[in-house]
Amino acid sequence: MPLLPHVDEIEVDPVTEALPGQDFGSRVELALAASNHLFNSRNSTRYVAQVLQGVNVVATKLDRTTRPFTGVGPAEMKARIGAVDLDRPLPDTAAALEELEAVYLRDAVYFHDTKYAAHLNCPVVIPALVGEAILSAVNSSMDTWDQSAGATMIERRLIDWTAGRLQLGAVADGVFTSGGSQSNLQALLIARNHAVAALRRVPANAGLRLPSLLEKLRIFTSADSHFSIQKSASMLGLGFDAVIPVPCAPDHRMDPAALAEAMAETHDAGLVPMAVVATAGTTDFGAVDPLAELAALARAYGAWFHIDAAYGGGLMVSNRYRHLLDGTRLADSVTVDFHKTFFQPVSSSALLVRDRSMLQHVTYYADYLNPESAALAEIPNQVDKSIQTTRRFDALKLWLTLRIMGAEALGALFDEAIDLAARVGSALAADDDFELAAEPQLSTLVFRYRPPVSGAGADAHGRLSEDAADSLNPAIRAAVFASGQAVVAGTTVAGRHYLKFTLLNAEATLEDISGIIELLRRTGAGLLASDNAGPAATNGASA
Ligand SMILES: *Cc1c(COP(=O)(O)O)cnc(C)c1O
Repeated sequence: MPLLPHVDEIEVDPVTEALPGQDFGSRVELALAASNHLFNSRNSTRYVAQVLQGVNVVATKLDRTTRPFTGVGPAEMKARIGAVDLDRPLPDTAAALEELEAVYLRDAVYFHDTKYAAHLNCPVVIPALVGEAILSAVNSSMDTWDQSAGATMIERRLIDWTAGRLQLGAVADGVFTSGGSQSNLQALLIARNHAVAALRRVPANAGLRLPSLLEKLRIFTSADSHFSIQKSASMLGLGFDAVIPVPCAPDHRMDPAALAEAMAETHDAGLVPMAVVATAGTTDFGAVDPLAELAALARAYGAWFHIDAAYGGGLMVSNRYRHLLDGTRLADSVTVDFHKTFFQPVSSSALLVRDRSMLQHVTYYADYLNPESAALAEIPNQVDKSIQTTRRFDALKLWLTLRIMGAEALGALFDEAIDLAARVGSALAADDDFELAAEPQLSTLVFRYRPPVSGAGADAHGRLSEDAADSLNPAIRAAVFASGQAVVAGTTVAGRHYLKFTLLNAEATLEDISGIIELLRRTGAGLLASDNAGPAATNGASA
């Protein structure tokens, strides 16, 4: 089996080489040297050598990194990067990679580290990195068949596979996107145009221009849903306040009775319920809204039913928790982020629709790219389904992941993270120094440091008061981040500050996370002690 030579064994001519027997003036020499950097058959050895150098640097980094971050601050990074003279290139790739150590790699935030527990960033799987290397080199663009060929068919197969797992039915379709925010935007764009088309069929609205129709549209989503819903509403000309936040039950799932009430009020006020956006895995609590009940309410009002499964989408390959996604079959559209719970590198996401004809709401024919004649000739131009034009072949990463690892293996990784979250939840619930905001539902934990204390700062139950906890917890988070020993997230619940773990690393153990908890405890106790020492010392001095 042919193996790639080790990087040190590859002989590469210097980039200024002239082709044999050629003699050029200096202008041509520059062009020749430049063309040595082009990805083509003449430079294939150089391509392998340089990419391997880059990969080796990362692998070496991986071997030597023992914490997720160094704690570097923005001012120092800005100064270091500002000092680079971008108009004076370095002699070779090795020199640039050496410089990269100081301007990026040394101080990057490493998601593969078991002490990284902050945001929905996953450790990535190697098959997807192989895909990333291939897709960026071949550089297919997904807008038209004549820029992608088989890549289009691979993307389409994966869309069908995903729609199948979500049980969206025989005429489902979809498209890869840059992320969950874009998927949500496209879903709501389709929902908006669908609602406008219905309004246009009402005789009383005949002749009304688009802006006056948009005024009437309302979107319902839980108070815990992702902010990309509000941003989408704004970009779609509806305004932030077209989004009606629906209260959640104590378990942070949208309360269907509250939705029914909000929809009835809107309807009675002569407004149009355009869409209900359910979340399958909220960003903070991992809550999966009661999909079937919300779908029924959406249907009763003729509203579009979108499910934002940016986080929970990985459940579709789960071996133990797949049932949590029951109900996706009732959706008009679904957002799935492969770069969260499918362990894919950024970016990789998709929007799925139950009825493929709905994607026509984003179709626009341009003679220079995708003329209508091409659609009539059934030439598969994915740009007809997308709000992007030039677009990466991100689907290749998922393709290779499924072909090399398989869906079950992928699901096992997410299952591990969910199980770990449950164990960490029990540990935190039993710990007097911490307060858990809710039982974990997927792989997140929202909690705060609120130890028993006495004297000033104590509440009636002898615990650190809510106000004191409010200033202490963000300070703990910042101090831990600055130490680089762990990275945790923060959020607010009912206006109060909390800490958050987002666990997606199947290799993290209970001991790893307990280590972070001990670090948080030590940091919190230290901050409390220094707070108390401050005023006490002053008193002592003035006495
Ligand atoms: C992360 C997230 C999004 C946004 O996805 P991006 O890929 O970051 O754009 C949307 N909805 C939910 C529930 C999320 O967790």
